[in-house]
Amino acid sequence: MARPDRRVNLAVARAIPPFLLCVCVYACYIVTKPLCIDYLIRPLPKYSHGRRVGAGIAILVIFYILILVVIITYLRLLFNITRNPGFLPRAPAPTKEEQETEPSDRPPRRKRKHRRTRTAEKPDKTDVDIERGADGNADSGAIPLDIIGLESFYTKDVFVCQEDGRPLYCSTCSRYKPDRAHHCREVDRCVLKMDHFCPWVGGVVSETSFKFFIQFVFYTLIFCAFSLIICATFTAEIIQDAGGANVHLAIGIGLSSLFGLFSFGMTISSLQLAMWNLSTIENLNRRSAVWTLAIRVPDRMLARLNPESRWAPTFRTITYPLPPVPLSPEAARDYQPPEKQHVFAILQTLPGENPFDLGSRFKNLQQVLGYSIIDWFLPLRQSPCADRTTGDSFYELGPVVSRLKKEAGLDPPPESQPTTQNDTERKHKRRRSSHRRSQG
Ligand SMILES: [Zn+2]
Repeated sequence: MARPDRRVNLAVARAIPPFLLCVCVYACYIVTKPLCIDYLIRPLPKYSHGRRVGAGIAILVIFYILILVVIITYLRLLFNITRNPGFLPRAPAPTKEEQETEPSDRPPRRKRKHRRTRTAEKPDKTDVDIERGADGNADSGAIPLDIIGLESFYTKDVFVCQEDGRPLYCSTCSRYKPDRAHHCREVDRCVLKMDHFCPWVGGVVSETSFKFFIQFVFYTLIFCAFSLIICATFTAEIIQDAGGANVHLAIGIGLSSLFGLFSFGMTISSLQLAMWNLSTIENLNRRSAVWTLAIRVPDRMLARLNPESRWAPTFRTITYPLPPVPLSPEAARDYQPPEKQHVFAILQTLPGENPFDLGSRFKNLQQVLGYSIIDWFLPLRQSPCADRTTGDSFYELGPVVSRLKKEAGLDPPPESQPTTQNDTERKHKRRRSSHRRSQG
């Protein structure tokens, strides 16, 4: 059975879009009939002033343009939330044969029908990623033994990992999680760069919809500010003129103040998160979070990791592909590791450091809003951070990772390679042009 707060969230999420539609229709009525027609364009006999057709038409034009922009951004947001929500597929349920051949010392993979119950039983802290401990690392209780799906991690240069170097694991979905993915209990799925479950838009705001969410709350703020100004100004006038307020305009003041305050708060906090390159979930423990990263050791340095080498690395390593598990002692003896190996150093950030912060608020904003002024204001293209066509890491990485590489001695020697700063700049440009190409 679903937990009450999850049920409430889902019920509210379904009820709010029709409620917002009703509010929009009523707002149109207030501005069109009692304000513009009955007061400005064709004043009722109870008002003593003359016609103000120009003012009435100007208000109507601005009002309908603004509400149209709000509706368009809302529909774009809803479209992405329903059609492209950034959900990760669950691991397929084990077949009967797989269950029968499951080795006895391997924890059985959970059947799908148990998942909902497990989610319902989780402690009430799922706003923080349920697979991450208090320090921001994976909970070592969820130890996966699967090696399926690891190629998409170890073929990158950097990925977020557990203490032992394996990627973070979602025990509910039975799969490894790409960097910044979180399990959302409302939809019972892992979501890419999940931001929050938003009842106002009826779904999960994630990397595919965060930009449109910001645009929606920003345009709602402008619309509410305009509505509040006209309702308040003409209410004051009507009180002087007719001796009493118009009830519809008074309700308009209340509604535009309420939604205006709400959208103001959401706009400021969303822009701030985008400037820090954090999601709402990551922001919950941003001052204490420690990220464990698997950073690829360049092939030319592998010889230095040899035990006979005089170089004493300061980090632990993990070598991919992992051997199939579990291996019997005989099989382990005969096991021949594949020729192409990917060795990763396991490194940790300092508490409060964010490896995805690109070092500049503007660059962080560009990752969400886009690279041009059109991208920033029109709800057309996806965020650059949702672009998966470049493969060094799941998301662009900032100076924290460059520093970790340098401290661990994994940086390329300065005489043979460009400097770290130039290297980061070059990667940034490459992602930019690839984003443009992929968006046509
Ligand atoms: Zn999950």
